[in-house]
Amino acid sequence: MTDTFVRPEWATLDIGKAEHRFVVTSGESFGDTDPATGALVAVVRSSTVDDVSDAVARANAAFSSSPWRNGGALRSRVLWRFAERLRANIDELAELLSREQGKSLREARTEVLAAANLTDYYAGLARSVYGRSMALGDTAHGVVLPEPLGVIAVITPWNWPLQLLMRSLAPALAAGNAVVVKPASLTPAITVRALSLLAADPDLPEGILTVLLGAGSVIGDALVEADGVDMICFTGESATGSSIMRKAATRIRKVALELGGKSPNVVFADADLDKAVAGALDAFLTTTGQICTAGSRLLVERSVAGEFVDALVARADALSLGDQLDPTTTLAPLVSGSQRASVEQYIDRARAEGTVLTRDRRPEGELSEGAFVPPTIVADLPMESAVVQEEIFGPVLTVHAFDDEDEAVALANGTQFGLAAGVWTRDVDRAWRMGRGIRSGTVWVNTYHHFYAETEVGGFGASGLGRQGGVQGLYEFTETKHINFDSKVTLW
Ligand code: NDP
Repeated sequence: MTDTFVRPEWATLDIGKAEHRFVVTSGESFGDTDPATGALVAVVRSSTVDDVSDAVARANAAFSSSPWRNGGALRSRVLWRFAERLRANIDELAELLSREQGKSLREARTEVLAAANLTDYYAGLARSVYGRSMALGDTAHGVVLPEPLGVIAVITPWNWPLQLLMRSLAPALAAGNAVVVKPASLTPAITVRALSLLAADPDLPEGILTVLLGAGSVIGDALVEADGVDMICFTGESATGSSIMRKAATRIRKVALELGGKSPNVVFADADLDKAVAGALDAFLTTTGQICTAGSRLLVERSVAGEFVDALVARADALSLGDQLDPTTTLAPLVSGSQRASVEQYIDRARAEGTVLTRDRRPEGELSEGAFVPPTIVADLPMESAVVQEEIFGPVLTVHAFDDEDEAVALANGTQFGLAAGVWTRDVDRAWRMGRGIRSGTVWVNTYHHFYAETEVGGFGASGLGRQGGVQGLYEFTETKHINFDSKVTLW
């Protein structure tokens, strides 16, 4: 760790301070560094296992005693104001996000706006958490109502730390719950900085929002096991999700899991191929491939596969790797040196088992030690290769040719995952058939990576359980209760 702060004031993100009372940390400090340059971005304190039980107790007390759980208008007001504060502070937040996570400033700005947009959407829904009421006979009546669950543990990853946080936190709060957040250890500063804008709201009851920091294997694990947590909402790797689900099962605790992917991007010969090349590039290189929905398996109809892949390789080789805040950079670094090492192992394997079509290169000079990996397109891999089957979370694309729709669907569905997919064709009937045939939570047609607060996302198979976003994403954070009235006493 170097002792040069990128911006000295970020060092004051020492979250033991009084203004960060919503962050419960009494452990050791750790350094948070820029993945391109290694410069220190912030110093962050860890929580302890005792802090976890304190945070959960605090959340339970706030849930039971504050007006939050029944105050839809209050929740709406607090969330609206937070969305506005995110927008008002976008310059500072985006720069911090870019430095800490390594993503380009342009993507960081998009992310701050996406987080604000999700918050707006659930601020609106907070006043409309409706149930149903029905006659059940001449004298009986039933009211079925959604109630907040209580205390939600929200555990988030580092790749889209603000947007993915708000995709879980905003509906959890809007539904009336208290929330304990455990962000990824690689992105604590942006999480704390952004949430301090929410915690500062005078109408947010103390204890409704608490943040814990530190290693997932210690603090995350203690949170999953803590007494008093009613639901675990986890976004991260499938293996971590599986272990969380096993632990939750011992206590019959509700889980929502947003996990990994290995998404197919299917290009038919009748597509607008120029548009599809641009879409395929974006699909596998957004966030330098560190996005759960990355279109990391390109399936191309054989008759156009040669020309399509040549055009894609030329575009990928022309990208400029560099510092994420440099406006001339078109491919940002990965989040860390260890992520780079992990991706490079897959690339070594790809060279051994298939044909790498793109140039191998790295930035020179002071960025030569940065977490950079070039865009890497690989052909001739068998379907069973780990490079084709496993989520790499880096700028690696495998390409495969197909002859007809049935083969395209079989290849698309040929992994354990089912998070997202793309289909490129001008034939509407084919787009519909492919949309129904592919087993994934999202299918984009002639586009990729467009997300809306209004629409649900989630996975089939190893990509997860439950849905986030949209109306269903709100009700995930409620439990349904039936209250029954009968004016006639019936003795059995
Ligand atoms: P991880 O599963 O490693 O970590 C996610 C979060 O879980 C982090 O906060 C981590 O803490 C914490 N954690 C780690 N181990 C445990 C544990 N035993 N108990 C409780 N919490 C734990 O994922 P990454 O952060 O590496 O994120 C990348 C993954 O997230 C990819 O697989 C990606 O596909 C997936 N993802 C899924 C999305 C979706 O919507 N489906 C969206 C974005 C990402 P710490 O950082 O301290 O280790």
